[in-house]
Amino acid sequence: MALQLPVDTLHLDLVRCPLQLDDILESKYFNANTKLSLGLIDGRNIWKNDFEGSLKIIEKAAAKIPLENLWVSASCSLLHTPYDLDLEVNLPTEIKQWLAFAKQKLGEIVTLKNLSLPDNETYLSLYEENKLANLTRKRSKLIHNQNVKERIKNLKESDSHRVSNFKVRQAKQKQALNLPLFPTTTIGSFPQTKEVRAWRLKYKKGLLSLAEYNGLIAKEIETSVKFQEDIGLDVLVHGEFERNDMVEYFGEQLNGFAFSGFGWVQSYGSRCVKPPILFGDVSREKPMTVKWSSYAQSLTDKPLKGMLTGPVTILQWSFVRNDQPRETTCNQIALAIRDEVVDLEKHGLKVIQIDEPAIREGLPLRKKDWAKYLNWAVKGFKVSACGVKDETQIHTHMCYSEFNDIIASIADMDADVITIETSRSEMELLDAFVNFKYPNEIGPGVYDIHSPRVPNLDEIEQLLVKAKNVLPKEHIWVNPDCGLKTRDWPETKKALENIVNAANNLRKQETELV
Ligand code: GLN
Ligand code: ZN
Repeated sequence: MALQLPVDTLHLDLVRCPLQLDDILESKYFNANTKLSLGLIDGRNIWKNDFEGSLKIIEKAAAKIPLENLWVSASCSLLHTPYDLDLEVNLPTEIKQWLAFAKQKLGEIVTLKNLSLPDNETYLSLYEENKLANLTRKRSKLIHNQNVKERIKNLKESDSHRVSNFKVRQAKQKQALNLPLFPTTTIGSFPQTKEVRAWRLKYKKGLLSLAEYNGLIAKEIETSVKFQEDIGLDVLVHGEFERNDMVEYFGEQLNGFAFSGFGWVQSYGSRCVKPPILFGDVSREKPMTVKWSSYAQSLTDKPLKGMLTGPVTILQWSFVRNDQPRETTCNQIALAIRDEVVDLEKHGLKVIQIDEPAIREGLPLRKKDWAKYLNWAVKGFKVSACGVKDETQIHTHMCYSEFNDIIASIADMDADVITIETSRSEMELLDAFVNFKYPNEIGPGVYDIHSPRVPNLDEIEQLLVKAKNVLPKEHIWVNPDCGLKTRDWPETKKALENIVNAANNLRKQETELV
């Protein structure tokens, strides 16, 4: 169909799917006048092109199509790549030579074209340079860590299963945590106020010492724990004040990640992110979150939830190495997070949340590839979550998700509790869980944190009643849709008070019924 379209030139994304070229060249609709644009430069990632491989593809096309009918191009718009590698002064030189940002990619397009022309001598040095850069990347000591590779090889089936099934765990957790019906909690972050961000900036600029910065964060955590106790939340959080971003914070502490200074790309709408560059085998040198989480737990007798970002989300929101399957990289991150989960448990945290908001967006374009992806994504999550004893309650959180067609995989993740975004759709997104008879506990969000509007008591109660009508009441948690970092304190306080009161009212109704 594509070949029959009344267009002059057909563009192919040969990064996502190189085999398309064979389909086209062998198609009965292909003819001598077909003009192709070969999308050879990866528009979604930041690695240097492999000229040798690309030239082979150009050659294959050129065997059937005259050169003047061929274009060389990026695989897609360069919207997803940062602007200019030359601006980066702090990236390690060894890593920098493996990369190409948008400006460098334009250069690669031109060089590839020049190299594919008969008279290409002047450009051969660029070819050699490219070859050498890719070779040093392949052989670099920075990338390969034998211990990590060994651990991946030795992963056992049992590493991705909890000791007991959910029912058994649920009973033990009930004992260990002693929570009321309709327990209340939040998703992790509290307002990242101007002050909190200013402290981080000052610390980075050397205007605050580490001790001063830590002192301020500790105070903020204290205030937030006290606030949560005062309003009567059941499972508390420390507030994530020390984190710049839920992926960057972990990447900065893990081996295998590098950070650009100006590598901004659009995330959604007017929001931008600076994804870490995941270039090598991932390992964890030391605990990443234990200090603040156990400090917060030491301030309260209520259970405090340790907060982690899951392996699939870290993978999905980074520029990921393209020299091994994503599945392998996912397992490496999963093992690092698993060690963190185990350490949190060791330090007295009885509830641990592993956020996976990006699971759904990682789904491949073609449905036939879904099962494979879901299989390794779910396994990655389970490897990270399953190192703990039955009594430890594992939460996961997902937002921006339609669950209908992936609900079986969500259930396979076997988190003890999942919190999801449901308030904007008035609980419509809950249908998938209800129809599937989702077996574990679930916190359908009752506060749309994307809006500054404070939900009133009545509407929260109505949402909860809706949930109660379709889910077993022992499975229901009461919480906002997502983290509160973009909100400010006055609205956060009012909304959370309403949430706690709504849960209390529901509990009262239950006891009256009895
Ligand atoms: N724990 C994170 C937070 O509260 C979750 C953010 C997310 O789901 N995007 O900010
Ligand atoms: Zn969220």
